[in-house]
Amino acid sequence: MSQHDKSAPRIVAIANQKGGVGKTTTAINLGAGLALKGHKTLVIDLDPQGNASTGLGVEPDQRVLTTYDLLLEGKTLADTMVSTEIENLYVVPSTADLSSADLELHSRSRRASLLDNILAHSSTREQGLDFILIDCPPSLSLLTVNAMVAADAVLVPLQSEFFALEGLSQLMMTIREIRQTANPDLAIEGVLLTMYDGRNRLAQAVMNDARETLGDLVYNTIIPRNVRISEAPSHAQTIHQYDPSSKGSVAYMRLVHEFLERNNVTGGVHA
Ligand code: ADP
Ligand code: MG
Repeated sequence: MSQHDKSAPRIVAIANQKGGVGKTTTAINLGAGLALKGHKTLVIDLDPQGNASTGLGVEPDQRVLTTYDLLLEGKTLADTMVSTEIENLYVVPSTADLSSADLELHSRSRRASLLDNILAHSSTREQGLDFILIDCPPSLSLLTVNAMVAADAVLVPLQSEFFALEGLSQLMMTIREIRQTANPDLAIEGVLLTMYDGRNRLAQAVMNDARETLGDLVYNTIIPRNVRISEAPSHAQTIHQYDPSSKGSVAYMRLVHEFLERNNVTGGVHA
């Protein structure tokens, strides 16, 4: 992929209906890593909690135009994208306003493909983005469905703990439904094991289970449990700014490498 050209960006929805599995952390630190490697990257904060916006340093008073305006008020990417402290990294921030969007979406026609229509618009190409990462809320609501309809692929963070695989069948069912209806080409970009503690035998068992069940869909990169990762957002920084030598930063940079390899060489895995 050439950088900053006017071809369509690759759109990846980061989704798992479970909360606290590392979606937002991955959106922030994968996004920042891609930007640090020179790829113009946009994170769309699709969670009313706005954690991705906070973690990327967008203060509440800077959130003038938000994902809500993009989705429901006819605003464009150019209107709503804000830059971050990291060159090449942009975010469409969200606020609690977005929590009413789900209900409002239900009354719209083509309610599942609003985001797709917006991102497929020619003005998106004018931004010269290489990647768009969508940080989904912890549900399979219409917001998440909009992300999956708009996306080329879904990246699924999986917390290395008991029951992690259980919620996955529901997520896979949703992906299948979306393939059958609005987005036949939706791929699974990869399943990412997060918050891994190698000393914990249960975590090892989850990893082995995931590899057995999902095979190549699981990234080789594993994100370790690392306290620096959890500290970074309270400093409004990505892990790469907060502590570039931490295990967390190194792991997310390794993910960047693997992500780019999958996207450039194999073009993603279609399961
Ligand atoms: P989600 O977006 O899926 O709800 P988050 O990315 O917000 O999950 O992560 C949940 C919590 O776990 C956050 O407080 C985050 O800082 C912390 N966290 C995420 N990944 C790690 C990690 N690898 N090591 C330690 N803490 C982590
Ligand atoms: Mg989140």
